[in-house]
Amino acid sequence: MEVLEFQKLCSSVVKKIDKKYSLSRDEQFNISQLVEELGELAKEVNREKLRGKKAEKKDLEDEFADVLLQLLNLAEMFGVNLEKSVKDKINKLEERHNLKF
Ligand SMILES: [Mg+2]
Repeated sequence: MEVLEFQKLCSSVVKKIDKKYSLSRDEQFNISQLVEELGELAKEVNREKLRGKKAEKKDLEDEFADVLLQLLNLAEMFGVNLEKSVKDKINKLEERHNLKF
């Protein structure tokens, strides 16, 4: 599956859930959900330091997935093709830092 196809799949999942719960999603709401999910990921990453218990891999996987779903949906809302954007950025970084990836 191509990244753009994956981005559209993630967006359709978010849309279906929004529809089921009659949620009205705009970009600002999506950003706040992305930040919320980043916070949940940070909580898992910090679990060992703050609570003395290492995060379970399943919990990390779950939170990474939440973050990616919200990020890809937001990109879709703005009509941003993240695969192209990241490839373009890698090219810029190669030039800026005189590297070859
Ligand atoms: Mg979460």
